[in-house]
Amino acid sequence: MFRSRELARDPSLMSSRRKAYESFMSGLFRRFKGSAGQIAQEARNALTNGGTFSDQLVRVVDQQVTQPGTQAAMNQAQMAYKAGTIRGADLVKAAGIKITGSLGPLPPNPAVLAAIQESNIAAWEGITDDMAKRIKASIISSSLKGESIYYTARHIREQVEISRKYSITMARTETMRAYNAAAEEQFRKYNVPMVEWLTAYDERTCEKCIPLNGKQYPIDDHPDCPLHARCRCILLPVVPEVPEEK
Ligand SMILES: [Zn+2]
Repeated sequence: MFRSRELARDPSLMSSRRKAYESFMSGLFRRFKGSAGQIAQEARNALTNGGTFSDQLVRVVDQQVTQPGTQAAMNQAQMAYKAGTIRGADLVKAAGIKITGSLGPLPPNPAVLAAIQESNIAAWEGITDDMAKRIKASIISSSLKGESIYYTARHIREQVEISRKYSITMARTETMRAYNAAAEEQFRKYNVPMVEWLTAYDERTCEKCIPLNGKQYPIDDHPDCPLHARCRCILLPVVPEVPEEK
């Protein structure tokens, strides 16, 4: 049942929804790069007049990147959590767990969702705070070297590019974290005792995860999933076969 090509590449079936989030976050940095010349000029003016540009820089980063991204991070966590909730229940059903009544998703836990959103926002803010610090350092260093505004702006764009790449990794990883947390929550609600690791197998296989593929763990004692940045693995519910009664 997990042998189709699509499932092998992307066990969570979240690929398109991860990509939409990645491209939104990436776009924030691409647009922000357009401000590099202006930031360089304003910072130079401030430094020439013996002032500081730090607060202004933090405000611009906040308005253009951090705030719109924070909203997207909250929405993405919610979407991935919901998808994991629905798929988690489907996987329980597919594992043949017998439960009377309906076997749809059990109600999600708002506290778990809130914690996932917080963690996604914290990861995001870490990226933009770090970017603001690196931009500030590169402006100061460029100014000390007596470089032209042209070069200062170029250094700023380089720093933005570094953060843009981090944001793509973050978007993939956090989407999977929300999805997996929600699926595991469903397993627990249906009293699933064991889970099995399922690795994404394609040209970009999770290399760190290959040794884990197919391994089974007690639900309370398995490696974190995602295991590493950009991990696309998922956990499957496992029910040990019970010997038939005589
Ligand atoms: Zn993995």
